Amino acid sequence: MTTSKNDILFERAQKSTPGGVNSPVRAFRSVGGTPRFITRAEGPYFWDADGKRYIDYIGSWGPAIVGHAHPQVVKAVQEAATRGLSFGAPTEAEIEMAEEICRLVPSIEQVRLVSSGTEATMSALRLARGATGRDKIVKFEGCYHGHADSLLVKAGSGLLTFGNPTSAGVPEDFVKHTMVLDYNNVEAVRAAFAQYGQEIACVIVEPVAGNMNLIKGTPEFLGALRELCTAHGAVLIFDEVMCGFRVGLGGAQELYGIQPDLTALGKVIGGGLPVAAFGGSQELMSKMSPVGAVYQAGTLSGNPVAVAAGMTTLKLIQQPGFYEGLARSARRLADGLTAAAQEAGVTFCADAEGGMFGLYFSATPPNNYAEMMAGDRDKFNVFFHKMLDEGVYFAPAAFEAGFVSAQHDDAVIDATIAAAKTVFASL
Ligand code: PLP
Repeated sequence: MTTSKNDILFERAQKSTPGGVNSPVRAFRSVGGTPRFITRAEGPYFWDADGKRYIDYIGSWGPAIVGHAHPQVVKAVQEAATRGLSFGAPTEAEIEMAEEICRLVPSIEQVRLVSSGTEATMSALRLARGATGRDKIVKFEGCYHGHADSLLVKAGSGLLTFGNPTSAGVPEDFVKHTMVLDYNNVEAVRAAFAQYGQEIACVIVEPVAGNMNLIKGTPEFLGALRELCTAHGAVLIFDEVMCGFRVGLGGAQELYGIQPDLTALGKVIGGGLPVAAFGGSQELMSKMSPVGAVYQAGTLSGNPVAVAAGMTTLKLIQQPGFYEGLARSARRLADGLTAAAQEAGVTFCADAEGGMFGLYFSATPPNNYAEMMAGDRDKFNVFFHKMLDEGVYFAPAAFEAGFVSAQHDDAVIDATIAAAKTVFASL
């Protein structure tokens, strides 16, 4: 009989909820074992039901960029909550948030707030199709854009075939419009446009991918997407739900100097509460209801409590030196882990971009999904569990990027590297 409260809670959870979790990756299926049930979080740490403390490198899968339970964010939420939880009518705070996003993200002139990244990408797709009058979309193997039907697709067998559903319940008829190409492969995109250029409504891409571990789009690849979309009248959508306000204040589009037509945002802009958004030029966004013919809506869109958390987070990340500090921490972690692995003779490397990082059990960082899948996942799983025992919580799957917060200072990073030295030596 186990006495671990995590085990007891997991058993109980599985009776009332499929797999015991409300989002699949939390279930530890990829790494095995019992998920930790979290009771509280503060700064770079959280604590599980057994009272064990972990250095958290997931940060709620991205939002916790200023650290967990930042006092200013908590205060803003408390104050907003006392004024009412939801009105279903517009507020001035929503205008302020929209203005702030338009000011910070180079390509956004108008933005619509929604409640999840899935809604943001799904709506951006609908807008792209509505604006172009075309049906076909292009996505890339290994990029995740939420769970809208058209996007739960993996590559077909041929280079330019349309995709296969990755989930039961997604009709073939939906995904027959979705072409799935290799990430960072310029030739594949050129070939797709050469054949279907007049039918492609949009290309959607994570410019810095965080859902096949961390893989950076090459400037040539992202530049070619821009060029081809412009040449063929297709809409370029940057899904910056994860990398937006994470790789830098202006997101990947500022980092690469490439302006997409539409941008999807989420995670950081909610500061831990449900806010996401999509935006672009005034001309495109004016096609959205109630002004235009593309329908989209949400009972809790622009929720006042969530907007208070998001807006306070957006202010905090604009403090001088914020992104320099974040990037320095992620780099210190990546370099420290790589050195520790080398010392122990383990094939491993790590990379970082802004406040995101990737851990790879391969000699060099991957450039696409197939290269990522070729990494040693069994070794990652052992590493993951041993680090967990040491009180370090990395994402429970080899396919996920990691995140640091502004509260991951040198002492926290160095404690992680010290733990990794012990773990690598035992692999
Ligand atoms: N797009 C990207 C790049 C993401 O990483 C995610 C979630 O991880 C989504 C979209 C979906 O966001 P949400 O989980 O808020 O629906």
